[in-house]
Amino acid sequence: MPEVIPESDARQYVLDRVVAAAPRRISLSDATGLVLAEAVVAGEDVPPFVNSAVDGYAVRAGDVVDAPVELVVIDEVAAGAASTATVGPGQAIRIMTGAPMPAGADASVMVEDTERLADGTRVLVRRSVNAGDAVRLAGDDVVAGTLLFEPGTTITPPIAGVLASVNARQVLVVPRPRVAVLSTGDELVTDGGALAPGQIRESNKTMLLGMVAAAGCEAVDFGVVRDDEAVLEGVLRKAATECDAIVTSGGVSMGDYDVVKAVLTKIADMRWMQIAIKPAKPFAFGLLADAAQPGRSVPVFGLPGNPVSSMVSFELFARPALRAMQGHPVIDRLHVLAVADEALQRRPDGKTHYARVHGAFGADGRYHVRSVGGQGSHQLAATATATALAVLPDGDGVEAGGSVDAIVLWVG
Ligand code: AMP
Ligand code: MG
Repeated sequence: MPEVIPESDARQYVLDRVVAAAPRRISLSDATGLVLAEAVVAGEDVPPFVNSAVDGYAVRAGDVVDAPVELVVIDEVAAGAASTATVGPGQAIRIMTGAPMPAGADASVMVEDTERLADGTRVLVRRSVNAGDAVRLAGDDVVAGTLLFEPGTTITPPIAGVLASVNARQVLVVPRPRVAVLSTGDELVTDGGALAPGQIRESNKTMLLGMVAAAGCEAVDFGVVRDDEAVLEGVLRKAATECDAIVTSGGVSMGDYDVVKAVLTKIADMRWMQIAIKPAKPFAFGLLADAAQPGRSVPVFGLPGNPVSSMVSFELFARPALRAMQGHPVIDRLHVLAVADEALQRRPDGKTHYARVHGAFGADGRYHVRSVGGQGSHQLAATATATALAVLPDGDGVEAGGSVDAIVLWVG
């Protein structure tokens, strides 16, 4: 029997063997979610010119000190246009949000504080404004030459918006890894047909493709592979050439038909682990050489087949590694010290248990958890409703009202 190792050893073993991919310059339109590999300095002012912050009238503040006053409307300017007129004493220009401030005007009055008079040539301004009111200066948001983002910044959707605003159309990023996902097992059915004796519907590949994508990678479906060593070897070698990492499910424990173990032992540099956690005790990790590119090898995550074990194993070992491969500064999910609203019991067995729980923030501002029910490693339906994993160290678990470390999987 292989030695049972602590989770932290398995995690470190994996993290020590993955590296962030070489940066690549790509179109900004493909960059959301990726990590910047360069500092971005603004090449332009945002906004590029002085403009109105409101729909209303561009005025000379000095003219409306004694509001209500009437002004003569001499022109109209929409966003995207520019007025060639100059606002002189007693005059105003109808202006839309984002339109350039016309010469002569030093403030905008919002339309709600005005009334266009019957013949349309004049406007009644009901309120006084100060010079500069409702005017957005050039560079108010970003001044050209400013360091906007450091390398290591994750390009969130708003950050992508900022990059677009300064015309950073190509950005140097850590590219999104392509991750092959495959499941193994002669019992697995995916064609929707009737189940023959001993067959079950495949579930892990569907789940893992989604988890890989949610971890920020491009998930590539390598299918369900029979428990046949030659076929599996061919699929794994193809995956090593076409992808940057491989996630397999099934066939890594002690069964006679654990072909993943048989094949990877032969063709890759693997470590077969038994980890002191429940679920997800068996786990394998290693590097598989790419026959097409000497010197290149890709990480292989051998997850157990039991669906709940597959999911937890992915969360604890594969996800952080895939985040590290993308250069993310934070590779782990949020941990919170939660309140157990009910007892989360367990027996001492030398392992850390990851109980699947429903978690939510309460009116007291604390995160509260309750078991999802069925905690068997085959009971994916119960686990699938979990929003967090409660970490139960070896022992008897947590009493109702006690504190427990929770890993938040999703909020909502
Ligand atoms: P294994 O790790 O291959 O020994 O599989 C352990 C258990 O998980 C067995 O009951 C399998 O039938 C089941 N299993 C393995 N792979 C999958 C999968 N992709 N989808 C659903 N169940 C699976
Ligand atoms: Mg199997």
